[in-house]
Amino acid sequence: MPKIDLPYMLDFCPLQTEDFTRIHEFFTNLKEGKFTTTKCKSCGEILWQPRVVCPHCNSDEMEWIDLPQEGKLFAFTEVFYGAPLGMEDDTPFSIGIVDLEDPKMKVLARVDDAHYEDLEFGQEMKLKIITLEDGRVWFRWVRK
Ligand SMILES: [Zn+2]
Repeated sequence: MPKIDLPYMLDFCPLQTEDFTRIHEFFTNLKEGKFTTTKCKSCGEILWQPRVVCPHCNSDEMEWIDLPQEGKLFAFTEVFYGAPLGMEDDTPFSIGIVDLEDPKMKVLARVDDAHYEDLEFGQEMKLKIITLEDGRVWFRWVRK
C-alpha cells in the first residue's frame, strides 16, 4: 500500500491500484510510457479523463486507446498562490492546456521547466511522465 502523508481527499494524485480505482489501467499504462484514455464501445465517444461509465450513453463497456503525447499549447498561466497541498513549495509553476490532434481533446497539466514568460500560444509541447516518491505516476507537459 502506498504511503500517503496527506488526507486522501486532499491528495492531488489519486491512489492508483486496482484496490482504489477502476481506472487503474490508466496508471499501469502510464508507468509503461503509454498515455491512454477510455473509448466507449457502445457510442464510440472518446472520453477524457478516463471513465468507467460513458456520460453520453451510460454504457460501461470501455476500451483503452492510446493518446498522442505531443500537442500545441492552447492556454497557460502561472500558479503563485493556492497551489494544491503538497505543491506549496513548488510555486511559482506553470500549468497549461494542450490541444491534442487525434483524437481532438484538450488536456490540462502542470508545465515543467518553463515559467509564464517562456511560453507562447501554439507552442509544441510533449508529455512528461513523472514518478512520485511513493511510486505513483503522473504526467506533466514540457516544451518540445
Ligand atoms: Zn457511450
